[in-house]
Amino acid sequence: MLPKRRVHLILSVTLSAALLIAAVLLTAAVRHSGAFAQSVYLPFSRAVSGLLGTLFSFSSYTVAEALLVTAAAALAGCLIRSVVHTVRERSAMPLLLWLSGVVLSASGIYFLFILLWGGTYHAPKLESRLGLRTGPQEEEMLFQTASRHLEDVLLYAELVPRNADGEAGAGGFSALAPESARAMKSLMARYPELFGKAAVSPPKRAFSYPVLGMLGISGIYVPFTGEAVVNTISTDPFLPSVMCHELAHRLGFAPEEDANLVAYLACMESNEPIFRYSGALMAFTYCYNALSSQQYRSLLWSRLAEESEETVDDYRRNREEWVKYESPLRQAAEAVNNAYLQSMGQADGVRSYGRVVDMLIALYIEEQARSGP
Ligand SMILES: [Zn+2]
Repeated sequence: MLPKRRVHLILSVTLSAALLIAAVLLTAAVRHSGAFAQSVYLPFSRAVSGLLGTLFSFSSYTVAEALLVTAAAALAGCLIRSVVHTVRERSAMPLLLWLSGVVLSASGIYFLFILLWGGTYHAPKLESRLGLRTGPQEEEMLFQTASRHLEDVLLYAELVPRNADGEAGAGGFSALAPESARAMKSLMARYPELFGKAAVSPPKRAFSYPVLGMLGISGIYVPFTGEAVVNTISTDPFLPSVMCHELAHRLGFAPEEDANLVAYLACMESNEPIFRYSGALMAFTYCYNALSSQQYRSLLWSRLAEESEETVDDYRRNREEWVKYESPLRQAAEAVNNAYLQSMGQADGVRSYGRVVDMLIALYIEEQARSGP
């Protein structure tokens, strides 16, 4: 008969392998069957994510951050105990058992990640679900799309509440978070076939915002707790689009460009000028950054500077807040995010955020066609 510890080790390794195989099979099923993705996986993921988000909304703090700290402490505690036993018993078995526990936990977390949400990376893309015609476009069309969003920026810049210094302020995170959930619900009602039904609780502020700031992270969605977490370093004009981006992730739009487009649409769905301003700023910024023609960029920026000094200041204030947390870790964090996105089938990695521009151009062309000659 095998010793108990050896049986434990074998069971642990077998279960880890089974969980990894199950995760791979589920990913393949979502990737290769659009019908399974849309009628089984996405509704399941949205329902469970919404439920988790509602469940953990009992706390205004991010439960995921507390869980992460607890898990790290438990991992370190178990490691110390295993090392002590390994030295005392002069056997590698305690350390091997600890290692197998780590591998089993990692496999379980990965399986849960794919089951709850990770598979949505492989579901049909938003552009095909919306029937948008994206493809290579002339720089001129990108310029026109950027100009269209600049019009909105200029319009809403005038409407947002500002203090005596001209600083846009709409009550900060606490005031904006409930409106982001309302705007998203309104968007869901407009596109029921795209969103299905799911609970939408407001995003939460990140307790560890300085650390996230050093890593250059403006928001993050945690599938295990259904929490859309937002870094409050961003100033009010930029917070709503981040909030809606993270909520879009929770609703099953994992690819970054898809979450950006849903965030833009949700911001524009709100009746609050600060949300519309935020959505327009996001759309304009992505289009502007995608322009390679210096001439077009200068034209847009001069018009912005001439007509809305306040907006130039809004960009500056937001940049100044982020600069306070500048750190060499940002580059490393971006490389990790890039590798993560590519491992989830997003070939463009961190550049995928900017691919929202293709969909914004397609929406602009549709809008032009509707308005007619
Ligand atoms: Zn994102």
